[in-house]
Amino acid sequence: MDARRILLVIFDGLGDRPLTELGHKTPLEAARKPNLDWFAANGVNGLVDPIAPGVPAGSDTSHLALFGYDPREVYTGRGPFEAAGVGIDLESGDIALRGNFATVDEKMRITDRRAGRIHEGTVKLADALDGMKLGRIKVMFRAGTEHRAALVLRGRGLSPKITDTDPHEIGEEIRQAEALEPAAKATAKAVNAFTKQAHKILNDHPVNRARVAKREPPANAVVLRGAGVYPDLPPIPERLHVKAAGIAGVALIRGMFRAVGIEVLDVKGATGGLDTDMIAKADAALAALESHDLVVLHVKAADLCGHDGQASEKIHVIERLDAMMGHLKPTLPADVVVAMTADHSTPVAAKDHSGDPVPLTLFGEGVRVDAVLAFDERSAAQGALGRLRGQDVMNLLIDLAGRAAKFGA
Ligand code: ZN
Ligand code: ZN
Repeated sequence: MDARRILLVIFDGLGDRPLTELGHKTPLEAARKPNLDWFAANGVNGLVDPIAPGVPAGSDTSHLALFGYDPREVYTGRGPFEAAGVGIDLESGDIALRGNFATVDEKMRITDRRAGRIHEGTVKLADALDGMKLGRIKVMFRAGTEHRAALVLRGRGLSPKITDTDPHEIGEEIRQAEALEPAAKATAKAVNAFTKQAHKILNDHPVNRARVAKREPPANAVVLRGAGVYPDLPPIPERLHVKAAGIAGVALIRGMFRAVGIEVLDVKGATGGLDTDMIAKADAALAALESHDLVVLHVKAADLCGHDGQASEKIHVIERLDAMMGHLKPTLPADVVVAMTADHSTPVAAKDHSGDPVPLTLFGEGVRVDAVLAFDERSAAQGALGRLRGQDVMNLLIDLAGRAAKFGA
C-alpha cells in the first residue's frame, strides 16, 4: 500500500458532561452536526483519555500526547511553548517564563495585573526589554496578545526550578523569584534583576508616558510565572518520517507545533478566538495536504465556551465546527486519513478542564467502520476502538496511513 496523508483535527476542550438545561445531554449531543456525525458513521470510533483516566489535561500536555510523546517524560512547563508560540527561537536548555505587563505603584505593589488589558504599544515596550544582558545571561522578550508576554533566558547552568514573581493579587508587591534548588540560584537572581531593570525601562518609556497622559494605567512592570526549560524533543519529521504542518490561532499551540518540528502555517482570519475563520482554516488545511504528509488543524473556540460556562455558545461553536468539516468533506482527497478528536474536556458546568475522556473518530479507506452513528461522548463509547490514551492516536494514524515501521521481523 502506498503511504497516505493524515489530517488530524483537534477541537480544543470539546468534551463535556450532561447538563440539566439541555435535557441531560452534553453540548455535543445537543448540537445539530450532520457532518461530524457523517464522519463518525463512516469511520471507526472510540474514547480517548488524553493523559490517563481521570487526569485533567492541560492543552500543552495533551497535545504532546496526541503528537505521540509521553508528556510525563518530556513536559517541563508551559512557558517554553508560549515563548516559541510568540516567535522566539528557542534552543534546548533555554529557560522560558510566561508574563504579563502589569501596573505597579512606586512601592512595586500591583495596581493592575494586566495594565488595563493594554493592547497597543506592547511590541514597542517588549522591544525595549529584548536583548537585555544580565551578566552572562542573554534576555529575549516578546509581547503576546494583549497584556501577555514571554521571557526567555539563555546562558549556561540555568534551572527552571524557581518560584513565580506574579503575586496574582492586586495590592501585593511583585514577588522575588526564589531558587527551589541550589542550582537555580543564578536563574532566580537573573529574573529578579530583570524585574528591576524592566521596571526602570518601562516606567520611563514614551508608550507609558502617553498612557499616563491619557489616564490609562501604565504597563510599567512585568510579572512572571511558569518557568520551564525548553525540552529537547525528537522532531516529528525525524521520528515518524512525515513532513508536517500545523494550523492554530493560539500562541501556545503554535509553540507546541514549533517545539516538535511541525511547520506553523499562518492563516488570515485564524485568531484563536470565537471570531476565528474556521472555513479559512479548513481551506488552508486542504492546501497544506498537497505538500505535507501530516496536517494538524486546531480550533480553540469550544474550550473558551467551556471556561466561560456558556452551554448555548458551545453548541453554536460545535455547529460551526460541523460546517467546517462539511466544507472539507467534498474536497477531501481519497488518500487522506482523518482523525477528529479533542485535547481534553472543558465541561460548561466545571468551567475548567476535567478528566473526562473525549470522542475520537478515524475516517479513511480501510478503517473498520463500526456501528456508531454520531460524534459525541456517549456514542463514541460504543465504538470499536474502545478506550485509548492520547499517545495511541498518532500510532493509529501512522499505521492506517501505511507509514508504520514493523515491530519485529
Ligand atoms: Zn486545550
Ligand atoms: Zn482550556
